[in-house]
Amino acid sequence: MVDGTGRTTQSQDAEHTDAHTDVHTNTRTDAQDFPRWFEGSEYMHRVARAIAKYGPIARTTLAQMLGLSQGALSRITSDLIHAGVIEELPGDAVARGPLPQGFTPRESTERRGRPKTALRLRADARTFIGVKAQGTSAIAAVVNAHGEVVSSRHERAFPDRSPEQVTAAIATLVRECRDDVAGTPLPPPTAVGVAIGGHVRGERDVTFAPFLRWDHDVPLAAMLERATGLPCNVYNDIDSLLVDASWFGPGVGLEAFAVLTIGVGVGYSLAMHGEPVTYPDKSYGLLGHVLVDPDGPRCTAGHVGCAQCLTDDSITEQYARMIGHACTFDDFARDAKAGLPLASRLADRTCFRLGSLIATIANIAMPSKVMIAGESAFLANIGIDAVRDGIRRYRHSQAAPVEFTVVEHDWQLWAKAAASRVIARYIG
Ligand SMILES: [Zn+2]
Repeated sequence: MVDGTGRTTQSQDAEHTDAHTDVHTNTRTDAQDFPRWFEGSEYMHRVARAIAKYGPIARTTLAQMLGLSQGALSRITSDLIHAGVIEELPGDAVARGPLPQGFTPRESTERRGRPKTALRLRADARTFIGVKAQGTSAIAAVVNAHGEVVSSRHERAFPDRSPEQVTAAIATLVRECRDDVAGTPLPPPTAVGVAIGGHVRGERDVTFAPFLRWDHDVPLAAMLERATGLPCNVYNDIDSLLVDASWFGPGVGLEAFAVLTIGVGVGYSLAMHGEPVTYPDKSYGLLGHVLVDPDGPRCTAGHVGCAQCLTDDSITEQYARMIGHACTFDDFARDAKAGLPLASRLADRTCFRLGSLIATIANIAMPSKVMIAGESAFLANIGIDAVRDGIRRYRHSQAAPVEFTVVEHDWQLWAKAAASRVIARYIG
């Protein structure tokens, strides 16, 4: 299906990562059947993407940003307004969105007295369902076209981890989400995005999901489409956080932006100009065994002081050794939050190590900002000075401080992030 809008090129880009590992399978190629909000030129899609990320935004600013003439941009925005994708607001009445890093709009050349207007996506024109599948349960939420959660929270445990049971549980969540929206003026959901920890081929097939104990191909998107009747795509969870932040969060407009997660494991992903860097092996936890502390504990692979010391299991083990008896990660978390001396010492040590990992990322990948997320991200807030010390220890004294932001953990954010990926796909 080639529609002359640049879709073919985009599909190839999306599958580029897997092209050389997936030449002999004949699963449905992903994006070709996935619905799009509108059909139009590549410029029309580019304008819609920019308005989604930077809106509310003035036409003059948008034209400069995209290198379009005012006339060309006006024709495109008229088409987008007509298609119900964007809307026009009184420019003075709304706060403007962020702008791309390094971009300074020139003074407006609009005639004096002409009312200024700003364009933004019609957030409530569409809804999407996002699902985060964990090891034993899944959580789901409905978001609007601007990636904002508009439903209550839905959660369901998997009776077991078989693909059939996981599919059935997610299908139930999708049904609950649809019922949730049916009671509001919002339109019914357009599509479903599912985030999983592991490796996904072509936004369709899970090839490796350690937390679900799947080590064989599972055509999860196709199974979910059959079970729900809605278009569905499946994504790596950390990439989903990255894309969500790059479209609707702290990564908008940045030249390079990194996400680092700590919790059961250590996860990392990097976006350049809002797009995740593609690398075939990146969902195999490549940062998990990077050296962070030559005096740190030994991991199961035999490394001393690798990034595994930031994981919940390792922290629990370290804390048990300090207090002299077995404990759980929750025991440590409770004691650290309460400021007990041994727990505080371990929290600070962990944060210093986290800082050294952030410095390594910053020194090599050079992101403008690093977002710390994951189940144990709260530790970074407890020991934020230790995080800064850890960064400084491995950073040139004249180099700018590394900008980082800590996201309070909530699995619903991961579900929303899966929906944001579907929105990005849907806007095209
Ligand atoms: Zn290791």
